[in-house]
Amino acid sequence: MHASWVEAALIGGGAIVGWYATHRWRVSGAPAPRGPSSDYLEGLNYLVNEQPDRAVEAFLRAVAVDRDTVETQFALGALFRRRGEVDRAIRVHQNLIARETLEPAFREQASYALAQDYLRAGLYDRAEKLLLELAEGGTYRIAALKDLSSIYELERDWDKAIAIHHKLARIGRTDHPTAIAHYHCEIAEAALAAGELDRAEQHLDMARAEQKRFPRAMLLAADLAIVRKDPADAVRLLRSVPLQSPQLAGEVLPRLVRALTAAGREADLAALLGDLAGDGKDVADAIAHAAILAGALSAPALLALARDYVGREPAVAETVAALLPEGVPDEATLRRLCAALRRQALRAPRFRCGNCGFSAASFFWQCPGCKSWDTLKPLTPSDLAGRPPGAAR
Ligand SMILES: [Zn+2]
Repeated sequence: MHASWVEAALIGGGAIVGWYATHRWRVSGAPAPRGPSSDYLEGLNYLVNEQPDRAVEAFLRAVAVDRDTVETQFALGALFRRRGEVDRAIRVHQNLIARETLEPAFREQASYALAQDYLRAGLYDRAEKLLLELAEGGTYRIAALKDLSSIYELERDWDKAIAIHHKLARIGRTDHPTAIAHYHCEIAEAALAAGELDRAEQHLDMARAEQKRFPRAMLLAADLAIVRKDPADAVRLLRSVPLQSPQLAGEVLPRLVRALTAAGREADLAALLGDLAGDGKDVADAIAHAAILAGALSAPALLALARDYVGREPAVAETVAALLPEGVPDEATLRRLCAALRRQALRAPRFRCGNCGFSAASFFWQCPGCKSWDTLKPLTPSDLAGRPPGAAR
């Protein structure tokens, strides 16, 4: 049995609530409650000793003997939810709320606990209703707003997510400052797909008003420019993205090729890439890595970047030096090497979240694991080999 939920149930549902309840009664001058029943203490003891089934039995006995012990009910509700017995947690919290004599602070706590049960059960409409009430003010206001934000992100209800983000921003409690710009980009992306170009543009403007030079908005603005037959503007927008965010090279490269092709300027690719690569090795390597992964090395300029990359990327360079001490001799060998790197990369996850470590085969703006924005980065061969960046060659 895992210790984590046992600890959380103990801390979250039992000890703190018990202390809080006792403390509150003392502060308010109301008669002090009776001490915890022996069954309750026995239940806690079982929890500590990782015997959750016996803990539940003891807690149920405690509730049966003393139905007024609020803290026991909270501990029990939290325990049920942690065990995945959400129906029972819901019943416990609903019973608490139904008590006419329940203090307002406990009623609020029970409402929030019930909302957590509904979230856990996937009953988002019921959770939303409770959370909207709690978000009006009080102890659980910020927590409720954050939960609402998660629900709207999950349901892709971006208008509502934007409204909640504004409320959190007003009280200075946004966890993800760029989230709102992403919400506008999500709306713009859908509008673009539906051919609603003006609506797409409006939301891209709003995204950039929230976050100046927001890379995702630049990429979408480039898509919009291509649809509007203004490839030169698309190239201008795309040109600035890798400098700011080299990790987005994989998003930039195909768009850049599309924009140049639309403008009849395929020949400019070499100069543009040279220009970008001149801004630093990070940018050059990110572009080369993206080109190798996409299998897009037909342009000589990209092949040249790939040649530099295989000589510089620590894990690849080590293999190359062992097998080809004189370096990569010719184009055919370089292409075979890049094809092998691509096959290897496609077998492994290509992106990893810097926040929670979630790995994915494709790119996400929002991590599917921890729901953070902008935390997925491409994995290089050195990352996959477990080498620290810049390790000796
Ligand atoms: Zn994550």
